[in-house]
Amino acid sequence: MRVAVIGAGPAGLTAALQLSRGGASVDVYEAGSQVGGLARSFDLWGRRVDLGPHRFFSTDARVNQFWKNIVGSDYVMVERLTRIHFKGKLFQYPLRPLDVFSKLGFAETSLTLLSYAKQWLHLGLRETGLPSFETWVVRRFGQRLYETFFKTYSEKLWGIPCTELSEDFAAQRIRKLTLHDAISNALLRPKKSEHRTLADCFAYPLGGTGTVYERIASQIVALGGQVHLAHAIDEVLSEDGRVTGVRSTDGPVVAYDHVISTMPLTLLTKAMSNVPQSVHDAADKLAFRNTLLVYLEVEGTNLFEDQWLYIHDRAVRVGRVTNFNNWGITDPTSKTSILCCEFWCNHTDPAWTASDNELAEQANSELRKTGLIKDQRICNSHVVRIPRCYPIYRIGYRQHVDVLSEFLQSIAGLTVIGRYGSFKYNNQDHSILMGLLAADNVLHAQHHNLWDLNSDFESYQERSLITQTGIMRTQSSQEMEPCSRR
Ligand SMILES: Cc1cc2nc3c(=O)[nH]c(=O)nc-3n(C[C@H](O)[C@H](O)[C@H](O)COP(=O)(O)OP(=O)(O)OC[C@H]3O[C@@H](n4cnc5c(N)ncnc54)[C@H](O)[C@@H]3O)c2cc1C
Repeated sequence: MRVAVIGAGPAGLTAALQLSRGGASVDVYEAGSQVGGLARSFDLWGRRVDLGPHRFFSTDARVNQFWKNIVGSDYVMVERLTRIHFKGKLFQYPLRPLDVFSKLGFAETSLTLLSYAKQWLHLGLRETGLPSFETWVVRRFGQRLYETFFKTYSEKLWGIPCTELSEDFAAQRIRKLTLHDAISNALLRPKKSEHRTLADCFAYPLGGTGTVYERIASQIVALGGQVHLAHAIDEVLSEDGRVTGVRSTDGPVVAYDHVISTMPLTLLTKAMSNVPQSVHDAADKLAFRNTLLVYLEVEGTNLFEDQWLYIHDRAVRVGRVTNFNNWGITDPTSKTSILCCEFWCNHTDPAWTASDNELAEQANSELRKTGLIKDQRICNSHVVRIPRCYPIYRIGYRQHVDVLSEFLQSIAGLTVIGRYGSFKYNNQDHSILMGLLAADNVLHAQHHNLWDLNSDFESYQERSLITQTGIMRTQSSQEMEPCSRR
């Protein structure tokens, strides 16, 4: 069986390795010059960095087993510290009621609780208005807490008002919990803290998150597969409703029995012929948000303790800042810190075409405005532009995805998976799971419905966590963080 895998990110490489292990003849085609996709690592100023923060965390036993099998013991456990920077204060993230209230102060806390009580008493936690990210969060946390901790950041990230953002985003990324539950948990069930500590740690590979994918690629090659870098696929061929092969830019047509695609869903349909106009129209209605990563090498260490910070302040456009000194693999003798500032924009925004120098200057001045750096000197800067980074869940997007999915499912031998590939806001673990299940479908004629696979880890059956000594099985979904945003 000959299989082409488009894209050497977590989803594509996982599928390719499983297929190679199962005896298939596999070729991976990657448009970029490196494997790992959005989860790649690279060398910068003598150190190893990722594309922004990359915390691997899963409670799915299959995913953890796969990851651990690749990484072996070459990882460190990092105690997660990720806070929200807002009005000069640092709030624990995931949000913890007592921390929030102590930092908001008496007056603001009273208003927050009143706003929640009003929501609860008057509406009984029913939806108000059309279902959206805003109504989903307001219903659970009240208007005031929503405006303080959810609105600004989400609008920076997505570039659309939260009233236009689908509630799917909240449902996938925020645990189904109300402010009342959060307060009761904090006050009445402090013994959960033991499990919380485990969930608050994550395993980070020595050499960066991309090491995992470099190793997977080597294993594919060792099993006889091929990984072609700098080979963008721009044609996926089919005949009589069955996929027949692929063609990379200026390359010949290569015949395959199966094609697994992780390329952007909206570009895949453009790479195919005989696509109905309704499918093209649906693809045109889907959009991705771009990311700009500005790396700064800053004089000094101990700038802040977090692996990354969410920047909620409206006065600055930077949304998240990663500090690579806090990932457990930095040389302790180093005299500088590498920070990565994330900005989000659309193709048409001036920021997307701004020069590297302009972006570095913006990052520098915004970091100073927030007070995260003061008089420290910037030694170096580097910019990475990532087009189509976040699939935008604008209300109604699902209907368009359904049109594409129905068409693509009608082509035998074609499977689409991954963050770009299936237009899902995946993390690495979700993409790895999709890769595992896609390989199962191809090798063993199984029928996992990959379109229905949600980025909601609570739906998984067998649960486990990676710890310093290996994999620990867990039972309860209550051990999870109350609110997940990576
Ligand atoms: C800033 C940032 C922070 C993140 N933080 C976390 C985190 O903390 N934890 C976590 O688990 N995840 C995190 N993620 C998400 C994680 O990186 C992705 O979920 C994961 O990489 C998705 O894997 P994938 O294989 O589905 O897609 P991708 O990694 O996007 O891989 C798709 C690959 O396909 C290639 N490709 C595209 N078009 C073509 C073509 N025509 N031909 C050939 N190749 C093509 C691309 O070059 C890419 O390599 C983060 C992502 C970003 C951007």
